[in-house]
Amino acid sequence: MKARLQVMKFGGTSVGDAACMARTAQIIAQGARGGACVAVVSAMSGVTNRLIEAAKRVEAGENEPGTAVLEALRKQHEEALGSLVQDANARRAIEEVIEEVFEEGRRLFEGTALLRELTPRTLDAISGLGERLSAPLVAGAVRALGLQSEAVDATRVIVTDAFHGGAEPLMGRTREKCEARLRPMVDQGIVPVVTGFIAATTEGRLTTLGRGGSDYSATILGAALDADEVIIWTDVDGVLTADPRLVPEARTIPVISYREAAELAFFGAKVLHPKTLNPVMQAAIPVWIRNSFAPERPGTLITPEGLRTGGGVKALTAIQDVALISVGGPGIVGLPDVVGRTFSTTAELRANVLLISQSSSQNDICFIVSAGDAQRTVEALRKEFAQDLAHEKVEHITVDTNIAIVAVVGENMRGTPGVAGRTFNALGRENVNLIAIAQGSSESNISFVVEEKAMKTALITAHREFGLGTPTN
Ligand code: ADP
Ligand code: ASP
Ligand code: MG
Repeated sequence: MKARLQVMKFGGTSVGDAACMARTAQIIAQGARGGACVAVVSAMSGVTNRLIEAAKRVEAGENEPGTAVLEALRKQHEEALGSLVQDANARRAIEEVIEEVFEEGRRLFEGTALLRELTPRTLDAISGLGERLSAPLVAGAVRALGLQSEAVDATRVIVTDAFHGGAEPLMGRTREKCEARLRPMVDQGIVPVVTGFIAATTEGRLTTLGRGGSDYSATILGAALDADEVIIWTDVDGVLTADPRLVPEARTIPVISYREAAELAFFGAKVLHPKTLNPVMQAAIPVWIRNSFAPERPGTLITPEGLRTGGGVKALTAIQDVALISVGGPGIVGLPDVVGRTFSTTAELRANVLLISQSSSQNDICFIVSAGDAQRTVEALRKEFAQDLAHEKVEHITVDTNIAIVAVVGENMRGTPGVAGRTFNALGRENVNLIAIAQGSSESNISFVVEEKAMKTALITAHREFGLGTPTN
């Protein structure tokens, strides 16, 4: 009989320092003793941000930040290694591996300094350095516990398209690579510790899956290996009813459906990368979110159906780093295919469109994209509608960044009339002004746009209105 296979992912804080890595190694060891286990790790907390910031400064003409960040990372990783692995030979072997990564980093920063250019491909290579440093350390910590374990560079097992900064997996090729490289390790009782976040094209060029992408790496590997479950170990007790940093009364949700969790992730719940659930949906692989700092707690279980008995609103989420773009003017009523042209423009850019709203008078098409996509989207739209702007058929293309989307999520809202009414009444009482409203036809989410400064009040108000802070079981 095939051994039970778990894919376990550990985020930045779960590998944030030697003590966290040691705790993580214990969790992996416990999993591996009970069955087969593949680990996926992020970079140590904050490392990816520091690498990206340094890369941007080097591109802008400073030389220092590249050398400085690599030196700081060397110190940080060597210190962690020193306390995780006592055996001098074992330590030296890991030092050699991470030294190669630092050498590559040095060349990448040098190239950037020389050309004063940071291509998306180089930015991917630089931002992926952190995972390539943390994985050998975690594998070393697992070996120090007496198990067999090896770091695996995900560029050898996850194959993607060439969309740098947000690549999509090619599942067929990924499956082949996982069967060839990871399955034999698993069968021999070796725990692979795979770098999260990074992957490679068919030609072997490094790509990344987007910020926070290690969650996605874990479910891609879970699907490719037909795992029995994926466990995402993080620094909170599971998926909460709202972001605990904004709503202190937020509570852990014991069971939630794929759809609900995906809606939350899509609308900014940082606990999951937006695409995390895509790879596992078809095979119905359960996903757990658990706290690596409190592994005795049960966490949240994400399943195809969630909890059938639970009704109404499940959770709230909000997303701040967004921009409202509006294309409009009285002339657009008679203009053919404004909507089509607008959204084929965004599709071409692969801009992340989060919400669309069009008033019935058709004077204005409003939609929301991630803040990072706003400028290039507006530029592309101005180009697309250049003629129409010149002839005043399209009057304006504007962008507003002082907004936030708040989403009310719950699969069973479908059968619960009045959710929208209750939400908007409660917000009205608190004087929260609604800029736009959208409800997906699936009725598992109602989202609305508010001024950024009203976001927190909106969340707290809706959380209270639906009693989400009160335990249900
Ligand atoms: P990791 O480094 O483990 O990937 P992240 O920082 O990416 O962890 O995600 C976990 C964080 O997500 C939590 O610390 C919490 O602050 C935030 N968060 C936002 N919304 C939610 C939510 N609904 N449930 C749980 N955590 C949330
Ligand atoms: N280290 C990467 C990031 O910070 C990926 C991840 O943490 O999931 O975006
Ligand atoms: Mg994360």
